[in-house]
Amino acid sequence: MPKHIAIVGGGIAGLAAAYELTRRQREGADVTFTLIEASPRLGGIVETHREAGFIMETGPDAWVTEKPWAREVAGELGLAGEIMQSNDAERVTYVLRGGKLLAMPDGMRMMVPSDLAALDGHALFSPAARRAYAAEPQRAEDLKHTHPHSDESVATFVTRHFGAEVLRVVGAPLLNGVFGGDVRRLSVQAVMAPFVKMEHEHGSLIAAVQQRDRERNGKPRPATFTTLRSGMGALAEAMAATLPPTSTQLNTTALSLRRTPEGWVVHTAATASSRDPRPAGTSQQHSFTDVVLATPVAATAHLLHSIDRRAAQLVDIPASSAVTVAFAFSPEIAQAQSITWPKGFGFLAPPGEGTRLLAATFADQKFADRAPVGGRLLRAYFGGPTADKLIRQTDEAIAQLAHTELQKMLGPLPPATVTVVRRWPRALPQYEVGHLNRMAELDRRISAIGKLRLLGNGYRGVGVPDLIRDARTAARTVAAA
Ligand SMILES: Cc1cc2nc3c(=O)[nH]c(=O)nc-3n(C[C@H](O)[C@H](O)[C@H](O)COP(=O)(O)OP(=O)(O)OC[C@H]3O[C@@H](n4cnc5c(N)ncnc54)[C@H](O)[C@@H]3O)c2cc1C
Repeated sequence: MPKHIAIVGGGIAGLAAAYELTRRQREGADVTFTLIEASPRLGGIVETHREAGFIMETGPDAWVTEKPWAREVAGELGLAGEIMQSNDAERVTYVLRGGKLLAMPDGMRMMVPSDLAALDGHALFSPAARRAYAAEPQRAEDLKHTHPHSDESVATFVTRHFGAEVLRVVGAPLLNGVFGGDVRRLSVQAVMAPFVKMEHEHGSLIAAVQQRDRERNGKPRPATFTTLRSGMGALAEAMAATLPPTSTQLNTTALSLRRTPEGWVVHTAATASSRDPRPAGTSQQHSFTDVVLATPVAATAHLLHSIDRRAAQLVDIPASSAVTVAFAFSPEIAQAQSITWPKGFGFLAPPGEGTRLLAATFADQKFADRAPVGGRLLRAYFGGPTADKLIRQTDEAIAQLAHTELQKMLGPLPPATVTVVRRWPRALPQYEVGHLNRMAELDRRISAIGKLRLLGNGYRGVGVPDLIRDARTAARTVAAA
């Protein structure tokens, strides 16, 4: 029987599923699909704003180079010539401490130093924190044999290895930058799995990263981040351009689902406006053989509620909001005002350091060609409860706050030539302690319902490459089943 699949949600996950199904169709698979997206554009959080020669990322600005799945798609789409690495020769990340931006020591793998000597006399850590680092390799046997076998929080894991100061100064801001939220609730098994494995194998995380470095045998590390010259949005735009024209319904909200003996009925309605998720107009019904839900967790929980209440509960995990504000300074303004910021990729602000910012990216230094020659580009990032509050404020108020906060660290900044504010409400799901068990139970329930797949950043990774990998695998499986 031919398959007609509904993909609900056209963020990078839904789009990658649609892209893969389009490829299957071209190879002769008897499959069609409809991509139902509430907003007027595809890509979801992946979005690049291009203006006055600036490439401004309002969501993700790169993917982690080690993960190949976004690069593979870029290659398939003819974007290989666009692929560009971060400027790792200039890679410095600063941490705000006592009102100053202090560079992270060289050789850190997240909060784990590969070179203890690089910490000597380093102002970022107190003598007590440096002693905790120095003692960790000596505690390897103890750490190897006493770690808990069940899941625990990132906070207890990091504190067990390096103490509370390292957690506060680097652990919390690093994790907050990716997952938002609270390190006392985040699951170490879900968000730091490679480090859990290191603990099991070596006890000491420092010993583990040092061994990995030795195994590289002097081979240079690849650049940390990879992106596209015309921005991450180009990946979504190029994927969208491959889809059959009649396969996509924009400005269409999925309201509810109903399981039938043959498959599914999906009720949709025109979206009222990009700012108002409530439906406008009468609802329509369409039948499908299979449904792929690639909506954010809150929307997915809502759609599942009438199908399987327990599955809806399992999906409905907390998610934190993000607000980004990009400031572009034209070459004329940047030169007239001598705008500079420290060499490097940007800074992280630990809690309690007197700013409402979570982080900022020196976008024109992290990657080449983000600004016209002589221009400058900076992005402020608010997360967690601050972002939840800011989302309700005007663009002007948000931009004003970001501008004021940045000046505390960077000194006087003139008004920007272009300012882009983006709100991402409940965009980053929190993988809390027990997340993997929760996902295992969810998987069982979803397969029992049948002809249903869940994709997106609520389940097995929030990064763009992971979402692309999972979406393509799911699409292949659905098309072949
Ligand atoms: C500020 C920020 C920076 C980030 N930086 C990075 C980074 O540098 N690198 C990286 O790898 N990751 C990064 N991430 C994470 C990554 O961007 C996201 O996890 C990813 O883009 C989420 O994709 P998605 O398809 O799961 O969801 P979304 O992009 O949220 O897409 C879901 C789509 O579903 C639609 N929708 C919702 N409800 C309905 C409905 N009822 N009917 C129809 N459609 C509906 C929405 O309109 C949306 O388009 C960042 C995230 C944020 C917020």
